[in-house]
Amino acid sequence: MLNLILMGPPGAGKGTQAQKLIAEFSLPQIATGDILRAAKSAGTPLGKQAAGFMDIGKLVPDELVIGLVEERLGQPDTQSGFILDGFPRTVAQAESLGAMLERRQLPITRVIVIDVADKQALIDRVTGRWSCPVCKTPYHVTGAPPKVAGRCDNDGAALVQRADDTAEKLTRRLAEYEQTKPVIDFYARQGKVTELDGQQAPEQVYAQIKQALGAP
Ligand code: AMP
Repeated sequence: MLNLILMGPPGAGKGTQAQKLIAEFSLPQIATGDILRAAKSAGTPLGKQAAGFMDIGKLVPDELVIGLVEERLGQPDTQSGFILDGFPRTVAQAESLGAMLERRQLPITRVIVIDVADKQALIDRVTGRWSCPVCKTPYHVTGAPPKVAGRCDNDGAALVQRADDTAEKLTRRLAEYEQTKPVIDFYARQGKVTELDGQQAPEQVYAQIKQALGAP
């Protein structure tokens, strides 16, 4: 069983690595950003509450995010493992997660932190990224373009860009990411953290993740 947490600044490649892990280990991905964006576009009460924070790149209040993760972890597909992507982002979230997992007797296997020190590299990655709304495959205008411009290679769906993937909003999101350092320290004290350099090729990053998991 693999119970993973993926951390890293916006554009570090968490989504790309999660896709690889899903393909190889069939784990469900619990990406709080994706769940919140879906709630926002569906106009649910949660989505409406979260929208104001998300639109300016601020963190959504802990109670909202913790509640949605609790609900998601209660679904049966998480029994054989999961990838948490973008959660926890505060120590309060990490502590709540610890309590939820303890109740379910699901220990965290490893916290993978993908670092990218070069801010300009993150800006280039984030402002050039598109993804498939159907199968979630990530693309990049120069780094990983689709075969047909604007269309997903797998299912032909029109690719979409995130509303907060602008240089201006990224500055705010990076500042928010800086605030997550205590979460890394929280897990480092438990000896659970592996930090990787996200400025390598995605395949190299993935190989190092597998190494950290002790997977062949
Ligand atoms: P992401 O897709 O992970 O970049 O998340 C997009 C936005 O959703 C963030 O800028 C926050 O507004 C919100 N969000 C996602 N996950 C969390 C979290 N764990 N805690 C608070 N806000 C979150």
